[in-house]
Amino acid sequence: MEAELEGHGSAETYALLRQHLGKCRVCREEYEVLREIVRTTHNAEALTRPPMSQSVF
Ligand SMILES: [Zn+2]
Repeated sequence: MEAELEGHGSAETYALLRQHLGKCRVCREEYEVLREIVRTTHNAEALTRPPMSQSVF
């Protein structure tokens, strides 16, 4: 998600988004849900990837 925002190229857009999230509870909740999804997806990818240095499993 952060990479996507960077792809759109402006810290200004990000600042506006942050500002809006500070005021708008609906969007903030939505944003947090999205962040959670991104985090769990990344974790899932990390687990699916073959463990090179970590052979703990
Ligand atoms: Zn909103």
